[in-house]
Amino acid sequence: MKRAILTPTVRLYKMPEGREAAHEFEMSPQRNPTPTNPFLNPVMLGQDKLEKIFHSALAKYGCSVELGTELQSFEQTSYSVKVKLIKRGFSQDPSSGELEESVFDWMIGTDGARGVVRKQLGLTFLGETRNVENFIVGDIYVDGLSQKHWHMWGEASDVLISLRATETPGLFNFVVGGKNINHPILSNNEDLLRKCFVENTGQRPDLKFGDIPWMSHYTPNIRMVDKFGVGRVYVAGDSAHVHSPTGGQGMNTGIQDSFNLAWKLALVVKGFSAPSLLDSYNEERIPVIAEMISQTTKLLKKALDKDEAALQTDGNLFQLGVNYRWSSIVVDERKAIEAEREAEEDSYLEDFQFDDEEDDEEKLDSYGIGHDGRLRAGDRAPDSSGLKVCSPLRLAKQACQLFQIFASSHHTILIFSDLVDFRDVLRVCSLYPKEAICTVVITRGKKHVPLDTTPADFILDDRDGHAHASYCPTGVCGVVVVRPDGVVGAIAKGPSWMNRYFRGIFTAKLTN
Ligand SMILES: Cc1cc2nc3c(=O)[nH]c(=O)nc-3n(C[C@H](O)[C@H](O)[C@H](O)COP(=O)(O)OP(=O)(O)OC[C@H]3O[C@@H](n4cnc5c(N)ncnc54)[C@H](O)[C@@H]3O)c2cc1C
Repeated sequence: MKRAILTPTVRLYKMPEGREAAHEFEMSPQRNPTPTNPFLNPVMLGQDKLEKIFHSALAKYGCSVELGTELQSFEQTSYSVKVKLIKRGFSQDPSSGELEESVFDWMIGTDGARGVVRKQLGLTFLGETRNVENFIVGDIYVDGLSQKHWHMWGEASDVLISLRATETPGLFNFVVGGKNINHPILSNNEDLLRKCFVENTGQRPDLKFGDIPWMSHYTPNIRMVDKFGVGRVYVAGDSAHVHSPTGGQGMNTGIQDSFNLAWKLALVVKGFSAPSLLDSYNEERIPVIAEMISQTTKLLKKALDKDEAALQTDGNLFQLGVNYRWSSIVVDERKAIEAEREAEEDSYLEDFQFDDEEDDEEKLDSYGIGHDGRLRAGDRAPDSSGLKVCSPLRLAKQACQLFQIFASSHHTILIFSDLVDFRDVLRVCSLYPKEAICTVVITRGKKHVPLDTTPADFILDDRDGHAHASYCPTGVCGVVVVRPDGVVGAIAKGPSWMNRYFRGIFTAKLTN
């Protein structure tokens, strides 16, 4: 967040002069953070910088990324995956390199759209290649251009130039497209490409086009796998789905794939869960990817029609509504109670009304576009600010928010002490693997929770009531389980439905 920049204002220029703005608009108008959504404004950061941040984060756990190492092939049995790697280092010579054969328990192919893992697994990658919409993409240093804008000149029907300011002063990310561009020639000749920039931005003497650190030819492909893995080998990210970059969904979606798979695989590797838990990776992610592809393809069409909506990042594209309500591993007692209540009301009214049959099945709406804002199991767990730590004592009286407590390494069990007998819930929690859970008792009002005899990891006072308002708005169901990927796994009235959830997760250890 510190290294990134906010989204720049989009500026479309009047042609042929290319100097005066024909139109300007905000790509994503600034929003004020709320107690439940602290990160409401998208930020931009080059993927090369983001990767460096990831690599240094991994290094803290003693894990180093072996660059210059190519997976050539693999074979799997029911126990392991045997891989052949070529270790080339940074040599450009394709015939160089040392062969290494290694055996792993599991393998995740995050080797991009052309990756070998998907191909060797034999997964389908159905969809289309849009050859008519070719672009040249890359970065270029430009003198004389404001860093506050995303600059655009021309039309897709002729020549379209887009120069977006980046977090590096003077460096702009470019897209060059349009029917009158000779892509193969321009994408292989930096001088001709610079000439193209000069000619199609109004021949302005104040603009100086400099070094091009990288560039590439890009053809939109719109494709996805039919399943995310076979046996002990999985795919995630672009190796499982590719689509138009409109809407900026790709990397974000790939990270969510990895997160969805990683916590489940970690529990399997630690021996807490049976491998069947991994089936839910496929079940949960396929509908999200299908919706993402539909959204980005609609935006691509808008972008080619020069509709400014294609560049505006709205609520749906923030992906905060992405959910797994239909997943077979989530458990929602509140929904069951409400459905029962509605069924009772319906049977009472039946005699007076014509039957207007309601579908009790959860409608599959993976981006949450039609959802009414009520929290359900399978939704992204909201934050809550305004909490005060009561226990542990070393943190006592400090202000805290739930996002500081949720973590990728454990399930967080929120226990609202005014709605449920917290002792009963904690007693059942003591049966679960200790390192895989974090228990949080949330108090409100006068209900007393003895600090010295309550075996919870945290006791928090919901001073401002935000946690109650977002997690238990109706006062029904005082237990909420948040999964390691920040998704609500269970909403329960008490230990019974909570345990129903964990019986589906800690499948290897719990039988009761
Ligand atoms: C013009 C453009 C703009 C975009 N803008 C956005 C945006 O604003 N926001 C967003 O979220 N997404 C955006 N995307 C999408 C995003 O770039 C991709 O979704 C993302 O890079 C996919 O990450 P990945 O790790 O799955 O695959 P990749 O980034 O393709 O990485 C795959 C890696 O695997 C390596 N590899 C391949 N084969 C092998 C092998 N056999 N052995 C070892 N390594 C191998 C490759 O060298 C590469 O390093 C954009 C894409 C484009 C083209």
